[in-house]
Amino acid sequence: MIKAVRGTRDILPPASAVWNHVERIAREVFRSYNFGEIRTPIFEATELFARGVGEETDIVSKEMYTWEDRARAQSEKTQSLTLRPENTAGVVRAAIEHNLFESGQLQKLYYIGPQFRRERPQKGRYRQFSQIGAEVIGPPSSGSESPLRDAEILEMLATLLDELGITGWTLELNSVGSAADRAKYNETLRAALVPVVSQMCADCQRRAVTNPLRVLDCKIPADQPIIDTLPVIADSLDEASRTHFAVVTASLDAAGVPYTLNHRLVRGLDYYTRTTFEFTHGGLGAQNALLGGGRYDGLSEVLGGPRAPGIGFAMGEDRLVLTLLAALDQKAAAQQKAEAFIAPLGESLNAAALVLARELRHQGLWIELGEGSFRLKKSFEAADKTAHHIVILGEDELKSGILTVKNFSTGIQTKVPRAELAVFLAEPPRE
Ligand code: AMP
Repeated sequence: MIKAVRGTRDILPPASAVWNHVERIAREVFRSYNFGEIRTPIFEATELFARGVGEETDIVSKEMYTWEDRARAQSEKTQSLTLRPENTAGVVRAAIEHNLFESGQLQKLYYIGPQFRRERPQKGRYRQFSQIGAEVIGPPSSGSESPLRDAEILEMLATLLDELGITGWTLELNSVGSAADRAKYNETLRAALVPVVSQMCADCQRRAVTNPLRVLDCKIPADQPIIDTLPVIADSLDEASRTHFAVVTASLDAAGVPYTLNHRLVRGLDYYTRTTFEFTHGGLGAQNALLGGGRYDGLSEVLGGPRAPGIGFAMGEDRLVLTLLAALDQKAAAQQKAEAFIAPLGESLNAAALVLARELRHQGLWIELGEGSFRLKKSFEAADKTAHHIVILGEDELKSGILTVKNFSTGIQTKVPRAELAVFLAEPPRE
């Protein structure tokens, strides 16, 4: 038997209804903040991610699905392509390619779609997963650098999680400063690590040399007390970054969005500057990050574009659904039921049943169509599983225009004129 590839999943009903619910709410919230949707290709030139995400990151160095795409004609070149591991680089590439920054307007773009990383699969971590993300980016004159943009994005995320009914989340916040601040901090860390690093894990010993900032990501319990004594990045920030961050936190206070400061939140991608953040949820287990993001003021230039500061986030849709699934399971199952199952009494009534189904569907109802060769008992069993009502269509009903309808939740059987059927079936309203 051929099975789905390790780390990939099939999303089946009724869980798919929860996915649709999450996407519908996300679209509504993005709309109310005046974001528009962008859809970028699922594969891009490998170089985009090497430059935009950073060669040194785990994503680029270990996790990408990359292949040499052979030339099929003399006019083509063989090219290294990669399934996108994240969407920010693609969005910024598209904005540059379509000259979106030339308008002078702030670009507010959101996306929903699959991403690919060759990670070790476990609950909440897959090789194909879906992200819902958004970016606010534009020339400095559009106000893209303002700390208000950071606060608005974070306030929007708090609203989105609330709208989804996800409670108990924690917003962790930090500022990693400008590229120069980060470089300065890296050197401070490097020096501070010299006397202690020999007591740390092998990974930290390597990171202390290659990229000291990454020591802060270490999860080994024995290393934690040592990491707690290291200098914090807040002390390496210049005046401008410090003020920027103070305005972000003051705006969140004003809007009543709760957060905690986490000096160790430096995030996995190289392009982050200033504000970085993560929303976590206790119910998720080891993979507890619902979403992450931050400011990336230099990314457009790295990708050959004009100066265009910005801020964005990506949320793991798989993890949102996992968080919601238990609570929504029953409701989703109920929502999966059609309003009525139409049971033709005999194959000669199949065509008439199709016409009745069409009539009701055109009036906005969800209809399941039975099959005239079924015995009545079998139709009732099938109807009970898939619909709130059964509508019996025999020769008599067809001639008289009076149909027999049974409501499965009340058990009551009623005669209903065909012209009133749609209204009758729609009430009581669906759960
Ligand atoms: P990142 O781009 O790594 O910051 O990821 C942003 C969010 O995407 C994370 O907080 C997760 O919710 C989700 N995510 C990242 N990698 C995976 C994965 N392999 N499987 C499922 N969700 C993921």
